[in-house]
Amino acid sequence: MPRLVMKFGGTSVANVDRIRNVARHVAREVRAGYDVAVVVSAMSGKTNELVGWVRDANPLYDPAEYDTVVASGEQVTSGLLAIALQKDGIPARSWQGWQVPIHTSDQHGSARIAAIDGAAILARFEAAREVAVVSGFQGVHPETGRITTLGRGGSDTSAVALAAALGAERCDIYTDVDGVYTTDPRVVPRARRLDRVAFEEMLEMASLGAKVLQVRSVELAMVHRVPTYVRSSFDDPDHPKPGTLICDEEDIMENPVVTGIAFSRDEAQITLRRVADKPGVAAAIFGPLADANVNVDMIIQVVSDDAATTDITFTVPSADYERSRALLEENKDRIGAAVIQGATDVVKVSAIGVGMRSHAGVASRAFKALAEKGINIRAITTSEIKFSVLIDAAYTELAVRTLHSLYGLDDKA
Ligand code: ADP
Ligand code: ASP
Ligand code: MG
Repeated sequence: MPRLVMKFGGTSVANVDRIRNVARHVAREVRAGYDVAVVVSAMSGKTNELVGWVRDANPLYDPAEYDTVVASGEQVTSGLLAIALQKDGIPARSWQGWQVPIHTSDQHGSARIAAIDGAAILARFEAAREVAVVSGFQGVHPETGRITTLGRGGSDTSAVALAAALGAERCDIYTDVDGVYTTDPRVVPRARRLDRVAFEEMLEMASLGAKVLQVRSVELAMVHRVPTYVRSSFDDPDHPKPGTLICDEEDIMENPVVTGIAFSRDEAQITLRRVADKPGVAAAIFGPLADANVNVDMIIQVVSDDAATTDITFTVPSADYERSRALLEENKDRIGAAVIQGATDVVKVSAIGVGMRSHAGVASRAFKALAEKGINIRAITTSEIKFSVLIDAAYTELAVRTLHSLYGLDDKA
């Protein structure tokens, strides 16, 4: 029998009624002749609630216990879906990460999948065509035996990794939108659904803020060549639409210069003023941040009026902002900075498209269009298939809509 992995996100399993609806989607694929493994998220809002409880108990919590708590949301939905399937006469059982087992690294809170042993699930496919309902987001570190989680949005990664391990024909990611759009359809109602997106573009879109897929899931789909679709669980279970296929660039007939616009509010800006302009200063600033695992993203250095000093601006994830400022304050004398300033009300807006490789001047058109709207650009980065601008958060929607129209992405309908 061909195998299929189906993944359902938080809104798709938000209550028992929706879980019954998920069971109908699964039943359709079982009837079509697939051996099915289903990966589920926690009910929407549940993981946030669990994270809140942990922080409330102790802001300096033990990461292993954090994982024990936050992984529990998926245990509930996997059990409930197995029960709903059984009620419809479909053999099914739930699997927690440690039962499969899904082995991971021991980075609690952001563990990486190391190996999945699919043998037990495959044996039960063989023996009874039993549907495997697997808790997403979680695994186990084999040496310590402790429960781990894969980082927020990690059920996508569980699903693609399981599809690779089971040799599934494809992985269907069911969510609350019917595919990948040219930008977040909640922000731009005129966003267009894409039939296909290239792996490289999806990787950039996900890492630049489009949370429709976790970045790691796209990497795994690309490396293991898992055909992955994003589709809606709210479609009629008997007549679903195919959704968006994430595939090789060569399999897409027409490549516009810009395929999508992404934005991330998860950014903070730090500026060091009047830093001594001499060799070794950049190392003195970024060395301690790197040692503390802070991911520095955009960096700009400005030559100031006097020849002796310079200003350096860069961005860090907003979760690391306070920590980064404290580290820089500690090293202030070594860096020789006069003033350290920061801002958290900033957003990074990015345009992505493999077509940028062969077109010049794509970014400069954006700078002009944003200037015409009175939007000030604080920092810029570019690479082969994307460029990003850092702007005031208050202009997020205006900037995203402006770029979306500029590159001809608006739905004409
Ligand atoms: P799930 O709980 O099913 O994993 P998520 O909330 O993680 O769902 O991801 C789906 C959401 O991603 C959509 O509701 C949408 O608002 C958002 N999103 C952001 N960018 C995009 C995009 N380019 N295309 C589609 N959805 C997007
Ligand atoms: N429940 C987890 C989260 O909210 C994992 C997921 O939904 O993918 O991050
Ligand atoms: Mg998600």
